[in-house]
Amino acid sequence: MSNFRSPDPQVSRSSDFNSGDYGSFGNYGNVVTGVTAPGIRPADKIPFCKHQHLLSCTIPRFTGETIHMRISVPLERQSGETRVALVPESVKKLAGLGVEVAVEKGAGDKAGFRDSDYTAAGAQIMDRASLLAGADVLTVVNRPEPDDYARLKPNTIIIGFLKPLDDPAGLEPVVRKQLSAFAVELVPRITRAQSMDALSSMATIAGYKAVILAAENIPKLFPLLMTAAGTIPPAKVLVLGAGVAGLQAIATARRLGAVVEAYDVRAVAGEQVRSLGAKFLEVDLGGIETQDAGGYAKELTEEALQRGRDMVAKHAATSDVVITTAQVPGRRAPLMLTEQAVANMKPGSVIVDLAASTGGNCALTRPGETVNQNGVSIMGPLNIPATVPLHASQLYSRNLVSFLSLIIDKGALKVDMQDEILKGACVAFQGGSVHPKLAAAIGQPVG
Ligand code: NAD
Repeated sequence: MSNFRSPDPQVSRSSDFNSGDYGSFGNYGNVVTGVTAPGIRPADKIPFCKHQHLLSCTIPRFTGETIHMRISVPLERQSGETRVALVPESVKKLAGLGVEVAVEKGAGDKAGFRDSDYTAAGAQIMDRASLLAGADVLTVVNRPEPDDYARLKPNTIIIGFLKPLDDPAGLEPVVRKQLSAFAVELVPRITRAQSMDALSSMATIAGYKAVILAAENIPKLFPLLMTAAGTIPPAKVLVLGAGVAGLQAIATARRLGAVVEAYDVRAVAGEQVRSLGAKFLEVDLGGIETQDAGGYAKELTEEALQRGRDMVAKHAATSDVVITTAQVPGRRAPLMLTEQAVANMKPGSVIVDLAASTGGNCALTRPGETVNQNGVSIMGPLNIPATVPLHASQLYSRNLVSFLSLIIDKGALKVDMQDEILKGACVAFQGGSVHPKLAAAIGQPVG
């Protein structure tokens, strides 16, 4: 049973947050700006310097001899979701750190993990209401359901894919209820945080599965085959965007024997593409800067985008498969394949648009649907990782355990907001320190 004690605000730590310009915000920005939430208790109040930078904050700590925190894992309710935030192997690890884990009944069923697997790993199985009420940390894949927030205790920490950039307004209850939230999308991509990189884990799965989807849907084989009935040439695959998903798509298509070409605005991607045995397509962008300090693509000018589109259209016309993965964090996905480019593609060819959720790289993409245009299939899958729930959950769960290890100390919760990973991933802290994008979305006064 839980030996949980109420959080006791007693440890004060100095923290020097950078204020951020949310207009130019990227995953690398440590941009939590201090604001006070209505109703916040004096002991929780976060002081600010005159520039509104957070100077120090009061961290909840658990007191007493037996200190346990409880991590709760709800059943994901979003339509089409099959993943679970923590798998049994992770529960065992967390139990080893002196932490209690509670799992909602049936939470792992769709990913292939039974309640009995969780119990054997040391978790308690409970209904949703008890699970939420007893949570010190709520680990989720997707945001909690709107009704869930009211059931959480103040200062409960929520960790998951919280969409802080795509839909910040939806996180308003986190501030109103004085909760804390860390978004895995905002974990800085620094070496120390590599094991926590949930975006990369999910992108790896998406890149792999996009190729499998395409292979299933073209009327051809992928590899070169020399048979008694003659030779079959290999399929030709074009990959747009050579980040994590794109590189995995290239590797998978190569393993299946396809001839692969790829394009990315970041010239540094060329070496990685070539090392996988694919051809890197280069476009003269007039020497403009295409990459930000954090390694992400910058939003391009219309002229630079058009040069890319012209080259892409030429190569798409001879390709059997186009897999598009190009994204710019916090922005609409760049348009790379126009309607005209699709009209020039061969009948039977397939486009898999992995940027469908952020607007799509193809002009004809419809999120969540497959469109057929003159014999060309344009697929806009929305949650590919959910089609591989066991491994997607396993990788995500390992990312979470790595992140959780930053805030667990001898079985107790200890949040050091000086840590650049926590600072970077923080969306709201005890309702009183809010990411500027969220503050702007909910009209929260800063300072
Ligand atoms: P992403 O999902 O934001 O974008 C996917 C790709 O699309 C990127 O390679 C980007 O350059 C490309 N792109 C954007 N606009 C484009 C356009 N108009 N035309 C062509 N290509 C376009 O990126 P991601 O996959 O999450 O990763 C981006 C970078 O971060 C990569 O360099 C990756 O290697 C790096 N990364 C670093 C770490 C780390 O721990 N250091 C971890 C993961 C990723």
